[in-house]
Amino acid sequence: MYERATNLFGSVPMTWMNKWSGGFPLYFAKAHGNRIVDVDGHEYIDFALGDTGAMAGHSPLASTEAITQRITTNGGITTMMPTEDAQIVAANLTKRFGLPLWSFTLSATDANRWAIRLARLATGKSKILVFSYCYHGSVDETFAVPNQDGVATARPGNVAPPVPLDETTRVVEFNDLAAVERELQNGDVAAVLTEPALTNIGIVLPQPGFLSGLRELATKYGALLMIDETHTFSAGYGGMTQRDHIKPDIFVIGKSIGAGIPSGAYGLTHEVAQAINKHPEADLIDVGGVGGTLAGNALSLAAMRTTLEEVLTQEAFAHMIELGTRYTSQVQAVLEKCEVPWSIAQIGARAEYRFTAPAPITGTQSALASDDDLDEFMHLFMCNRGILMTPFHNMALMCPATSAQDVDEHARLFELAIEELVQPSLKP
Ligand code: PMP
Repeated sequence: MYERATNLFGSVPMTWMNKWSGGFPLYFAKAHGNRIVDVDGHEYIDFALGDTGAMAGHSPLASTEAITQRITTNGGITTMMPTEDAQIVAANLTKRFGLPLWSFTLSATDANRWAIRLARLATGKSKILVFSYCYHGSVDETFAVPNQDGVATARPGNVAPPVPLDETTRVVEFNDLAAVERELQNGDVAAVLTEPALTNIGIVLPQPGFLSGLRELATKYGALLMIDETHTFSAGYGGMTQRDHIKPDIFVIGKSIGAGIPSGAYGLTHEVAQAINKHPEADLIDVGGVGGTLAGNALSLAAMRTTLEEVLTQEAFAHMIELGTRYTSQVQAVLEKCEVPWSIAQIGARAEYRFTAPAPITGTQSALASDDDLDEFMHLFMCNRGILMTPFHNMALMCPATSAQDVDEHARLFELAIEELVQPSLKP
């Protein structure tokens, strides 16, 4: 199938699908719960879960029934009119994350893009502050790393940025509050945008006091705190925001909340909404640069409503987090037993090992621990034995359908992989 895909740029529907190990992507035939069956009939335990898009599991029954009812019994996918589901979803998001006002998008990328515009409007400031090696979707302002003078410059591989990064962005290392304060002192930062733990350069956890320090510094220098929980939602029912009492001004989420139907949302405080509303000249209704025709459509909202109310429940998170802890301690035990200098970090239902120890505390440290050959080996070893890991680094995610046996099977194979890796050095 891959060879026949001659009309696809890069031979795949989206170029990143070439990231799978083994020289070509597997094609899937079916996916239910945490199982994927490929077109050759092989079944896999899926710990990739669509890089969080399928955190609710593949085609969870309640969501698929609601989706089917929306598009067949009721009918209507996109009409330019609201459905009642929107308020119900927004109230559910408020219960989880605290912010009182919500707008909908079709992806986390768009939620970030539109919320950044609103942050600039609300504050009258032009720049955003991000952390080195962050990822928030294909958002121009975010692809920055600091150069030797601490000035934002395009990170390696950035495809044709529209303007030099220092015009839009300030960038420092995660966990470095002194650097955050130094940059905020310039007075031109509209929003500090971050995940509460970096998850796209391995996992980099916040050190004690870092997130509360960010909150204080943002307030002190008149910048908004913008928290992207697209991945860290794995921490629990209300993400890290609820668990760790973060108080964002703007909140962003996407991927998982629609069980795979394109969905995303951003939340605003009343204060941010008021600041936005002081600008009647900003066209928020038509072609002002915030919004999309299909955003907030009936299908997306029906999927979000049922996924949030019936699938990603408190009970589901309790199960997923217990398995995340089981996975983490099993990997840790193998690393200790085999004296492998790697580390593993957990965010609730998500865990990831990194080829360095102790665990990195900045994005740059974590980037330096990348090893493409080791990555390829681990992914292919697992894939050939029936386990899928996220193709970007070594993330594993638990969904409601994941079982303790699935996690134990990973541990068994992980130990075999490690034994194969360390064996040559043990030979006399
Ligand atoms: N924010 C975070 C934290 C992400 O990890 C991602 C995707 N990996 C995005 C935003 C963008 O999501 P999407 O590609 O679905 O727009």
